[in-house]
Amino acid sequence: MTDAVVVGAGPNGLAAAVTLARRGVKVTVLEAEREIGGGTRSGALTLPGLLHDHCAAVHPTGAGSPFFRSLAMERHGLEWAWPDADLAHPLDCGDAGVMWRALARTADELGRDGPAWRALFGPLAGSFDALARDVMGPVIRVPARPLSYARFGWFAAQPAALLARRWRTEKARALFAGAAAHLLTRLDRPMSSSVGLFHIVAGHRVGWPVARGGSRSVTDALASLLRSLGGTIETDARITSPAQLPRSDVVMLDLAPRAVAALFGDRLPPRVRFGYARWRHGPAAFAVHLAVEGGVPWTAEACRSAGTVHLGGTLEEIRHSEAQIARGRMPERPFVLLAQQYLADAGRSHGNVHPVDAYAHVPHGYRGDATESVMRQIERFAPGVRERVLATTVRSPAELAHGNANFVGGDILTGANNSLQVALRPRPALDPYSTGVPGVYLCSAATPPGAGVHGMCGHHAARSALRFLEADEEKLSFR
Ligand SMILES: Cc1cc2nc3c(=O)[nH]c(=O)nc-3n(C[C@H](O)[C@H](O)[C@H](O)COP(=O)(O)OP(=O)(O)OC[C@H]3O[C@@H](n4cnc5c(N)ncnc54)[C@H](O)[C@@H]3O)c2cc1C
Repeated sequence: MTDAVVVGAGPNGLAAAVTLARRGVKVTVLEAEREIGGGTRSGALTLPGLLHDHCAAVHPTGAGSPFFRSLAMERHGLEWAWPDADLAHPLDCGDAGVMWRALARTADELGRDGPAWRALFGPLAGSFDALARDVMGPVIRVPARPLSYARFGWFAAQPAALLARRWRTEKARALFAGAAAHLLTRLDRPMSSSVGLFHIVAGHRVGWPVARGGSRSVTDALASLLRSLGGTIETDARITSPAQLPRSDVVMLDLAPRAVAALFGDRLPPRVRFGYARWRHGPAAFAVHLAVEGGVPWTAEACRSAGTVHLGGTLEEIRHSEAQIARGRMPERPFVLLAQQYLADAGRSHGNVHPVDAYAHVPHGYRGDATESVMRQIERFAPGVRERVLATTVRSPAELAHGNANFVGGDILTGANNSLQVALRPRPALDPYSTGVPGVYLCSAATPPGAGVHGMCGHHAARSALRFLEADEEKLSFR
């Protein structure tokens, strides 16, 4: 029987494992931490009875993932749950831009910018299912739908600050800028529209749902599916040397590229080793988890029903704060992403006390305490919030990195999203998943299509591994 070892039980490691197991490969997953899940772990971080997501909270790319959609994960306990409003972006005037799943409602509420919103996102949302298959994979390949892919690529390649000029109101510009800021990069750089564009297109097709029971339900479902296919998972199994790996035909690495360079050293071809060693990590996150009695008292009504709230003010302000972070400086008003998953998944709350998960963008390896900056950004749009906070737990970039070796310096995206690394990750290559060592593949968020809980990196990497296995009848045993 063909064997595979997967190092790392994040969503991509488990997606790789499931893809291989579905083709009859016997898979063993080795996870460093006590719990599987990587960036999808959930638990009681503030008060007993409140369920928080440690990292990933909202899942436009999960719900839109062609791989997840092919798996019937609901049979393994995954259920998406939608808040009334998918995304709200409050402004100082007391108003907020709102993205609803319904494009028409979103456009109507954006007033004179409605037609331009509809013109950009309507055609892309209409072809989302095909577009997702083309966009959520390596850049260098023949797209199934060249026209919609080219249309997407034309807009995605633009700097977000430039693309936003098609809207005239601050509300529409800020709504787009907040989504674009998920890329955690300067908004005046090429490709900085890519993630915002895709997230909004996904929003108008599948919404921005949360996972009922916490984001861990996503990886719990993958793990359950894997076990049903005969796969096994070992936790507390940190791999620091290839000698620790059991004999297998293929090895899948859900790791950061520099970790692969350290692990395999001279076994890697020099060009690959060089590419991995030069892999750049990006800015960090500073996470703040709150237990809030009665919920956050937002001024803008729409924020009270939104699963995700972006706190950063105008496009100009977000552009400025992201530029400062890219230069390694902590802005006075950092961009903050705040999730109110309980609005869609009431079981996360305890009575009238609700879990709220927020994080600020901060410089790579930031050593300061950003709690006050985060609270000020929330209070700016929700005066009186502090009186409602019953408990706070924060996690610094160093703590994020300590809990997950892939989050180097608190970089939650496993790599900087500069123009080059967005387009050609983890190095320019026809098969970006191949490490150059026969049978050994990189499958983490450092590979295409990049960060997010969608499993597409792992799935594509496993398909490369399957091609290797099919081509190599002798099935070279690794080691
Ligand atoms: C604060 C925060 C908020 C986020 N918000 C969202 C969101 O709302 N929506 C979204 O889609 N994404 C979000 N993300 C990003 C998302 O979590 C990641 O992109 C995703 O988890 C990447 O999956 P992965 O499998 O590549 O890696 P990871 O999830 O990082 O998993 C890697 C796994 O490998 C293990 N590992 C590392 N080194 C070793 C080793 N040497 N031996 C064995 N095991 C090892 C780690 O412990 C970990 O379990 C967020 C992340 C953070 C931290």
